[in-house]
Amino acid sequence: MNITNDKVTEYLEGLYRPWSPDLLKLREIAEQHHVPIILRDSETLILNIIRMKKPVRILEIGTAIGYSAICFAHAAPGAEIVTLERSEKMYQYAHTNIEKFGLSHRIQMKRGDALESLKDLRNTINDTESEGFDLVFLDAAKSYYRKFWDACIPLCRKEAVILSDNVLLHARTAADEFITERRQKTSVRQMREFLDHITNLDYAETAVLAVGDGIAVSVLKDGYQRKL
Ligand code: SAH
Ligand code: MG
Repeated sequence: MNITNDKVTEYLEGLYRPWSPDLLKLREIAEQHHVPIILRDSETLILNIIRMKKPVRILEIGTAIGYSAICFAHAAPGAEIVTLERSEKMYQYAHTNIEKFGLSHRIQMKRGDALESLKDLRNTINDTESEGFDLVFLDAAKSYYRKFWDACIPLCRKEAVILSDNVLLHARTAADEFITERRQKTSVRQMREFLDHITNLDYAETAVLAVGDGIAVSVLKDGYQRKL
């Protein structure tokens, strides 16, 4: 279910302008195969945040077929992107797509569980201020957002932007009446706890937006590392 009125969603989707015919083709292939790539309205918002922030290093958790990473590379022409994916099948698809778009030199893929890859990254970064990330896109297993967040923070430069996707879980995060299956309850509880946590931090400011499937836009405050 859409988190807003279906007519509003449809109208906004009509305003969507893809970056290129090739990217639109990739989006359509993903949609046909039910790969959960960023929704159209989320894409336009995220890409403009990237254009405003002008990040040098972007970290993405959850590559899928590489669609969002390829979009990020277009919106931040000088940036280096590190993207993490645990599914072997997705990793292979993404590898092919990133190569097709001629972006292998800027998008570094890491295969395996993101929590493990984040641990490895922590060991390879010597100086967070010069080698850390200034934008993070959180878009993998929704029940692990808190764990991903905690593992990302030490890798972030000051004033980094962290974007967490799908935080409204088709509106279920907002109200129990949208829960249709028992097994959704745990992930809803975990997402509520995650949002409670990130909206109450003293080292970050967070806006939770009803765009796409819900996006939390967080900005780390200058000097946050001293407070951690
Ligand atoms: N960001 C992509 C969509 C990602 S979909 C886009 O918008 O184009 C989420 C992906 O996260 C899936 O491919 C899934 O395999 C991956 N994933 C889920 N849990 C993970 C984990 N613990 N570590 C790494 N990847 C994970
Ligand atoms: Mg998503």
